[in-house]
Amino acid sequence: MLTLTCPYCGIRAEETELAPGGEAHLKRIGPAGSDEDFEAYMFARANPKGVHFERWRHAYGCGKWFLAARDTATLQVYATYKAQTPAPTDEVIAAITAARPDWTPAK
Ligand SMILES: [Zn+2]
Repeated sequence: MLTLTCPYCGIRAEETELAPGGEAHLKRIGPAGSDEDFEAYMFARANPKGVHFERWRHAYGCGKWFLAARDTATLQVYATYKAQTPAPTDEVIAAITAARPDWTPAK
């Protein structure tokens, strides 16, 4: 079972206490964006086998949204951090690369 630690209240919550919110760190497309960019923003999502950044809500706890970096194949959680973080921090990247030296961040 997936267990995530809420970065706000510090509780280790099981998956049944959480609500998934999809992929994290999506870049929103404004009115100046092209139709193709907007379509990609609306419908295209990464579905990797391995490291993935996700949004979760502590639905049966404090109710706040947070982000998690985890492995979709092994359910290993590398880090959880606050939802206002615009991109994975150096600490999150370091935690991932410590566990997965072969992994490199996208872009
Ligand atoms: Zn919480």
